[in-house]
Amino acid sequence: MLLKKIILVKYGEIALRKGNRALYEKRLMDTLRKRLYDIAGDAIHVLREQGRFVIEDVRGDIDEKAVIPRIRNIFGVTAFCLCLKTDARELADIQNIAAEFFRGFLTDAPHTFKVETKRGDKNYPVPSREVSAAVGGYILERLPGLKVDVHRPDRVLWVEVRTYVYLYVHSEPGEGGLPYGSSGKAVLLLSGGIDSPVAGYLTAKRGVEIVAVYFHSPPYTPERAAEKVKDLTARLCAYTGALKLYVVPFTDVQLYLYENVQHSKLTILLKRSMLKIASVIAEKENAHCLITGDSIGQVASQTILSMEAVDSAAKFPVLRPLCAMDKQQIIEIAKKIGTYEISVLPFEDCCTLFVAEHPESKPKVSVIEGIEKRLSELTRLWEEAAGKACER
Ligand code: ATP
Ligand code: MG
Repeated sequence: MLLKKIILVKYGEIALRKGNRALYEKRLMDTLRKRLYDIAGDAIHVLREQGRFVIEDVRGDIDEKAVIPRIRNIFGVTAFCLCLKTDARELADIQNIAAEFFRGFLTDAPHTFKVETKRGDKNYPVPSREVSAAVGGYILERLPGLKVDVHRPDRVLWVEVRTYVYLYVHSEPGEGGLPYGSSGKAVLLLSGGIDSPVAGYLTAKRGVEIVAVYFHSPPYTPERAAEKVKDLTARLCAYTGALKLYVVPFTDVQLYLYENVQHSKLTILLKRSMLKIASVIAEKENAHCLITGDSIGQVASQTILSMEAVDSAAKFPVLRPLCAMDKQQIIEIAKKIGTYEISVLPFEDCCTLFVAEHPESKPKVSVIEGIEKRLSELTRLWEEAAGKACER
């Protein structure tokens, strides 16, 4: 009889999407396979079984210490659990195996418990309730110190009847969201700050593939500022897999604007320039939107009117996943995903060096566009910057 430790992966939300379900499942399965490959190559199998993925090692029990850390960060996984898999189908065998399995989760102290059964295989002849009652009754007779409590049990033994039967006690919540790459592609304007990595993470969690772009202004921003953005990108990779980062040489655009426009309008014009150049990269990358880390009212350049004045420069919709969050909420996410410690390192990003004392908070689109039109060198400088953007 087969008895083997495996990992069962649950993926709630994507299972609900009828039309695209197969596509979403394939994405998630590919991601799982890719992330697990270097643990043991082809020996680790990821199989689909009635709305679940089963991860198993063809050589024997799964090495959960190696596998679980890699599943934790995968978007689209709602929960996962270490299970005992068996090919036993007879209720008497399942009772026996379940009791032995459950024993391993008990201490000397008295426990309350219940058994919950799910039948993925609707052809299994015994209804779920009866399986639970039979297994629960058997355990109660055999294992000392147990009492049934169906409302607030100390332990729940889950029995999932699928092509095989799976038993587990603990289920760990997964990262949630949608499989990475299943919802199109976007360009993330990634500065070295706290906000934009969080904006990237949240969007990627909805399944959007990301290409990061950083605007670098040497010698006003040190090389270490670019390194910091690279480190942030590497942190995000823990969730997304390999990520592309473009570094755009921004000094010429920045100096040109600094010398030619009223300083109160500088921030808006710099942001517009970033969106212009990011749009060129988005086209090249076949991406269809831009993402920034703006949050409404956080600073003068992040008012609704500023956003309106900035966005008309973009060729694609500009998503601002943090727009309605306050700083504390953003910091909490940054800490959870491990970008916070990198973001707070003190290297200036290009905007902080060129900020005006009194940036305008109520710019008018027509006025800003009028100013831009009169800047004869600007389009050329944008093109040059986009052309010189290089991948790191
Ligand atoms: P962050 O914490 O993300 O740096 P911030 O609070 O410092 O944001 P701003 O400097 O106004 O705010 O920047 C707003 C957004 O503009 C950033 O979240 C980012 O998406 C984009 N941005 C700003 N500077 C750069 C840069 N040098 N390279 C790429 N994107 C940038
Ligand atoms: Mg910043």
